[in-house]
Amino acid sequence: MEIFKKVTESARTIGEGAKSIGKKSSDFMGAAKLKYEINKLEKEMENNISALGNLVYMQYKGEKGLEAEVERLLKSTRALEDDITGFEEQIAKLLPKPPVCSKCLTELPFDAKYCFNCGAKMAQDGQTE
Ligand SMILES: [Zn+2]
Repeated sequence: MEIFKKVTESARTIGEGAKSIGKKSSDFMGAAKLKYEINKLEKEMENNISALGNLVYMQYKGEKGLEAEVERLLKSTRALEDDITGFEEQIAKLLPKPPVCSKCLTELPFDAKYCFNCGAKMAQDGQTE
């Protein structure tokens, strides 16, 4: 069946892609590069989920023997999700922490001159006076 073949091939590509990206994630990457990778993984997840939808519908119509494919796509989607979480954690480590008001501990924008919560004046070094 043509649709089944297409779904199977796309699932294989997705699985291999996730693996190679997962390996690369151990190397240093800039936050922008990581965000780009997350975008790609999110698109792959969308493809996976839409392929899963196809498979479930084919099962509903009486197509047999799709369980293994469904299982593989579910695992592949889960792996993609884990990769995305890993990249997001790496981004959080790479990005500088926003300034925090020393009086009330509110997180402030980088260019804040005053704390919008308690009104404390920000010093040049990003600390409240
Ligand atoms: Zn404050």
